[in-house]
Amino acid sequence: MKAYIETFGCQMNESDSERIMYLLENQGYEKTNDISDSDIIILNTCTVREKARNKLYGHIGNLKKIKYKRKDVLICIGGCASQDLKEKIIEDFPFVDVVFGTLNIPEFPELIKRRTLTGKSICSVKTGGFDPDALKVRRICRFKALIPIIIGCNNYCSYCIVPMVRGSEKSIEPEKIIKNVKELVMQGVVEIALLGQNVNSYGKDLKQTCTFSGLLGEVSKIEGLERIRFMTSHPKDFSKDLIDIIRDRDNITKHIHLPLQAGSDKTLKEMNRNYTVKDYLDIIESIREKIPRCTITTDIIVGFPGERRKDFLDTLDLVKKVRFNRAFTFVYSPRAGTRAAKMEDKIQPGEKRKWFKELLEVQNSISYEENKKLAGKKFKVLVEGKSAKGGGMLEGRMDDNTIVNFKGSSTLTGRMVPVIITGVKTFYLKGELDYKED
Ligand code: SAM
Ligand code: SF4
Repeated sequence: MKAYIETFGCQMNESDSERIMYLLENQGYEKTNDISDSDIIILNTCTVREKARNKLYGHIGNLKKIKYKRKDVLICIGGCASQDLKEKIIEDFPFVDVVFGTLNIPEFPELIKRRTLTGKSICSVKTGGFDPDALKVRRICRFKALIPIIIGCNNYCSYCIVPMVRGSEKSIEPEKIIKNVKELVMQGVVEIALLGQNVNSYGKDLKQTCTFSGLLGEVSKIEGLERIRFMTSHPKDFSKDLIDIIRDRDNITKHIHLPLQAGSDKTLKEMNRNYTVKDYLDIIESIREKIPRCTITTDIIVGFPGERRKDFLDTLDLVKKVRFNRAFTFVYSPRAGTRAAKMEDKIQPGEKRKWFKELLEVQNSISYEENKKLAGKKFKVLVEGKSAKGGGMLEGRMDDNTIVNFKGSSTLTGRMVPVIITGVKTFYLKGELDYKED
């Protein structure tokens, strides 16, 4: 029996897919990358923006042909869109066999069995609870691992659907995380990413006293662990001791993803972000003072309801001032059930797209200029495999997640290698291996 799984959206979803695959393998399924050869097809979905939802409808629609030809194939839809849309998915696509929510992953094998026995489509979406075995996964990569440390979100940013589809924050006990990472390192993992919607609120819900910087400190002591990433940091909870621990430990990446969202205090307040532009700039100043070569990346939303041209220009100014290495930029997308969806929105979509383009142009030129500063320098790169560009090129990542393409043998996959940067693009770098291959 073969299982095909397609993942949309963020790294938390990727981690959930590894969990789903682990559960399926325990039921005797084998992973396949060939949809036409699968007995079960799972789409692990995203709903953070309307576009993700629309794309999903296209994807599910495409599965109809497969189901028509092979009636025994099970079509299962999980993830945030399932949590949000529930039965509506089966109403719109009656050929779907199972719809399961983000908190229903542990019972997924049971749902498949029930579907097979009853012959009826099932929708199982609960709103509370916690997956106690979230760390038991079938990892896709042998040298990198995603580790959820806090699941859900309590922040209720007014535009965001995540707290509704992921539930409230639940931290995984530090002992469990440390044991898990030690086991992974024994299995050959050299890089981990600690995941949470707001890693800085890690531990607040636990009985024991435990902070994110404390956890990071403990994890970084694990011998053999070469790289620790973490995301996402919320500016309202970002602590000074976190900066110290990042500076002090060689294996913690000098990369902080700190979503700004907007550069005007008025918009930030309406977004319920709980920090001001000054608070944000103070954090940036402390980071730059203590960790001179630290990559800072961000998320920005353009066209939030009530945002005026003046507010947008404040965002643009801040982008020029901070000089982010990279920014993930989004046009505001109203999500039903959020506070912002009820706010008055006078700006026309065409106008928002114009602002968006303006922001993109400014940020892209900053990214390019910042990348140019790296030319001629040497960095440790984790080789991820052959580059899609072909021609004997490999693709790897620097500790700040920047992609580097360079010539080399694919036997280097999974190893950290020294690479000198020889060419610079806006979104990636070119390099040369700085030592002879074995
Ligand atoms: N938890 C993270 C945080 O606090 O920044 C990010 C989670 S969200 C999956 C990733 C990004 O999507 C957000 O930082 C925000 O910029 C963007 N986003 C969330 N809701 C959005 C919406 N309704 N419209 C446009 N962008 C949105
Ligand atoms: Fe959404 Fe805000 Fe939570 Fe991030 S912190 S997931 S943007 S509600």
